[in-house]
Amino acid sequence: MHKPYDTIIIGAGIAGSTAAFMLQRAGEHVVLVDRSSVPASGGSGAAGAFVSPKIGKGGPLQQLTNEAFAFAHTFYREHSPEHFTASGVVRIPKHPDDAEHFSLYEPHNYPMYERWHSEDLALRGIEDTWGGFYFPEAGDCDAPAVCRTLASGIDFVQLDVRRLSRAGEVWRVEGANRTLEAARVVLATGYQNELIDMRYMGIRGLWGSRGDYRTSTTLPVSLHKSLSVSSTRQGRVKIGATHVKHTDPCLVCDGQPLAGLFAGASELVDTSDFVLQETFCGMRSTSRDHVPVIGEVIDVPRMLQEHPAIVRGATAPLQHISDLFVLNGLGGRGFVFAPLMAQWLTERIITGRPIPESVHSDRLFYKWARTHLTK
Ligand SMILES: Cc1cc2nc3c(=O)[nH]c(=O)nc-3n(C[C@H](O)[C@H](O)[C@H](O)COP(=O)(O)OP(=O)(O)OC[C@H]3O[C@@H](n4cnc5c(N)ncnc54)[C@H](O)[C@@H]3O)c2cc1C
Repeated sequence: MHKPYDTIIIGAGIAGSTAAFMLQRAGEHVVLVDRSSVPASGGSGAAGAFVSPKIGKGGPLQQLTNEAFAFAHTFYREHSPEHFTASGVVRIPKHPDDAEHFSLYEPHNYPMYERWHSEDLALRGIEDTWGGFYFPEAGDCDAPAVCRTLASGIDFVQLDVRRLSRAGEVWRVEGANRTLEAARVVLATGYQNELIDMRYMGIRGLWGSRGDYRTSTTLPVSLHKSLSVSSTRQGRVKIGATHVKHTDPCLVCDGQPLAGLFAGASELVDTSDFVLQETFCGMRSTSRDHVPVIGEVIDVPRMLQEHPAIVRGATAPLQHISDLFVLNGLGGRGFVFAPLMAQWLTERIITGRPIPESVHSDRLFYKWARTHLTK
């Protein structure tokens, strides 16, 4: 007899694919569900998918990002080596003020880095007066290929999920003409979150685009400024950025916003023979405080019904919806965050190990209830 699923993961972007991979590796019987017929149709497919550390003054988000970066580049090298290119990434100041801050950032840098001057950049075909920080372990993924590799060997069902319901101990995940059942559900749906009341997480979309260009120019390293340019691979370079605040629906992917990106890239590298091959666009999803959200999902209607004084500042023990988890809010660094966040979620599900408070979605509930609900 067919063994029932332990976990249904909704959303086959990098978040869902990584979670499915880790849960299946931990012995779970997993099914990955997406409204598209293939993984990485959402923001993940549009991403330049650079995997690099964050620079800054050592704040909590930088520390988390760099912990995630250390985990991620090892993870991709081990589990999808042919789709992760560790070309190194150089981070260049965005403007003169940013350049002045670089000396303040330097003590907080991810340990493995080099300080590059404008001559070092020029040697690699990059023109910039300020120089930058070069991170040799960084690189970029072939986003769809990584998602496909992680999802291979895992049951995949194309289903536009319309409804979640629970009967006893069983979750029912319903689409137009099929229903799946499992003990638990993980929501990895990116910027679209209509299935359950998750308003407190404040997930919203930020639109971006990417162009892939054919060129005979050899760029040996990738670079980030206010946009990202990849190293040359098989005669192709990716230029991309997320730049337009927008929620739903996704904007038309007609290549228009690429003109600005291309102009920005042309100030940094020789784009004279670049020929546009393909345009991608999509939404990345960001939480209210720009930190990933993972963990149990709070039963919002129940909390507000049983404890109406919450909106006036009262507290009560948080009540979660049984066996429902979220993995979202990966922002502009989904490929950096996904492996570590999926690992923490997997440990929570398999061993009960609590998810760190800094990324647990619970952190956002009370502030949302007090500031966003009508009193
Ligand atoms: C232009 C651009 C450039 C970027 N560059 C980088 C970068 O260089 N480095 C980096 O780390 N990150 C980058 N990002 C961010 C990164 O793409 C995101 O953080 C990441 O893709 C988020 O992954 P996800 O799995 O959470 O969401 P998504 O990839 O959006 O996946 C969500 C999936 O859920 C499915 N879904 C939603 N609702 C339902 C439903 N009801 N039923 C069934 N399926 C459903 C969707 O079809 C989709 O496939 C970039 C993003 C963009 C747009």
